Amino acid sequence: MGRNLPCIPMGCSACCRDTTMPITRTESAVISRRTGMETESFAWDNNGILTLLNSSDTEACVFLITESKEVNAPGICSIYDFRPKGCTTYPVVLDSDDNAILDDGCPYKNKFPEPTEDDAMTLLNLEEKLLDE
Ligand code: SF4
Ligand code: SF4
Repeated sequence: MGRNLPCIPMGCSACCRDTTMPITRTESAVISRRTGMETESFAWDNNGILTLLNSSDTEACVFLITESKEVNAPGICSIYDFRPKGCTTYPVVLDSDDNAILDDGCPYKNKFPEPTEDDAMTLLNLEEKLLDE
């Protein structure tokens, strides 16, 4: 995120809560190396696709530093500089026709630029990596 996007100014961390964010094996390896954590402590195998775990305390991604379970509470990503690609591209997601759209789950989606065909290609490439690795 960055580039005049609303996430930090609005203090939003909604997409890091009750996360189902998939990550590639390469991303998992980078996170392990940078944090010293075993994969099992931050991701689970969701039918062959690694998916970030939520903390039972915060009900948010294990990497979200937050003091509340509230969806509107502030939070900071503790691995921001090397967070997974899916975290950087959200709220842009693919619809059922593989068009890039802004996800309704983002409370500030109207503050993001309209997704482009390049965004769709980025997400399709990511999807391929998630399935191939
Ligand atoms: S839900 Fe939307 S505004 Fe909030 S942190 Fe995620 S992408 Fe940013
Ligand atoms: S890795 Fe960071 S940006 Fe991604 S869901 Fe977890 S806390 Fe949010």
